[in-house]
Amino acid sequence: MFEIGIQLRKERGAENVFDFSIGNPEVEPPSAVIEALRRVVAENRPRSHGYMPNAGFPEVRAVIAQGLAARSGIPFGADDVLMTTGAAGAINIVLKSILDPGDEVILLNPYFPEYRFYVENHGGRVIPVETDAGFQPDVARIAAAITARTKALILNSPNNPTGRIYGAEVLRELNEVIRDPMLVISDEPYRPLVYDGENAPETLALIPRAVLAWSYSKAMAIAGERIGFLAIPPGLAEAAALRNACTFAIRILGYINATALWQLAVAEAPEATIDVTHYQAKRDLLCDSLNRMGYEAPRPQGSFYVFARTPIPDDLAFIRVLQEEGILAVPGTGFGRGGYMRLSLTISQPDIARALPGFERALRKVR
Ligand code: PLP
Repeated sequence: MFEIGIQLRKERGAENVFDFSIGNPEVEPPSAVIEALRRVVAENRPRSHGYMPNAGFPEVRAVIAQGLAARSGIPFGADDVLMTTGAAGAINIVLKSILDPGDEVILLNPYFPEYRFYVENHGGRVIPVETDAGFQPDVARIAAAITARTKALILNSPNNPTGRIYGAEVLRELNEVIRDPMLVISDEPYRPLVYDGENAPETLALIPRAVLAWSYSKAMAIAGERIGFLAIPPGLAEAAALRNACTFAIRILGYINATALWQLAVAEAPEATIDVTHYQAKRDLLCDSLNRMGYEAPRPQGSFYVFARTPIPDDLAFIRVLQEEGILAVPGTGFGRGGYMRLSLTISQPDIARALPGFERALRKVR
């Protein structure tokens, strides 16, 4: 999509290309985050640029653990938090630690496409399991997919690409089928990005065998800094062994160590979050307009993606029709679900408004 975008901009002029494809926050980070970074740089504390323990600065992990404990009711301590390069790093160290070649990891379809590579990086096999009609986990299907080789299930709520938040009841039901040694990896980069006053139910509290993969990329609009963490609940029977394995994986994988300055900065403003009201306004403009035209584009409850049905079953063909209008979207096929397209709300509101006639023309072309 990136390459097609460059080509289209050359052909039509940048002002006539509407890029709904990339989930890269377009807003600036909250001022509290930038001020924290400035303070950390200005203070230049001794050893703030050196190696630290592989799991990260202990004082940073203590601050994060405190916030997690308050949020989840689980007594997290500094030792239970491991600083990583984003959620991607956190997921990779868990998979590196728990997978033997041929072990299985369940992914709920449609899913963030990089998960497949994370699993295969460490010799695992992906077992895709369809979600239900509302894109919620289908616990009966998950139960049927679990085998003696199943080591993990990756859960992502609020969800990329569907924008759904998983309900507390379905998470409780899911908990009933999670058995040792299987872990749930709860990937939550979008947790703070929720709309209409909703809150995502606390997976850690509802599923004791869940570990948390967190990223500040989206919530703080610092995606290029690649900062996040893994949290392992202290009550997990294998917590100590898993902590050791994941800490070792941070070092030996060679690309997971979170940068020192950003560890220090996020600990100074751990709860800072971008203002979600502008995403909500863009969501309402896009979804309401598309629905009026005749598309089926439910409003996401969280994250910044609209997962809309394509008006013809062949989503790849429809994506090409949209490209004729200068509109870039990601086909649902890329997430394992044909017949849909993902539209990222990280495009400006004026550009959404200017793209709408193109969506309308594309619909007329295929009807
Ligand atoms: N998980 C999901 C669902 C994502 O959408 C992304 C990034 O888009 C990631 C993980 C990776 O996050 P990070 O780049 O902060 O590691």
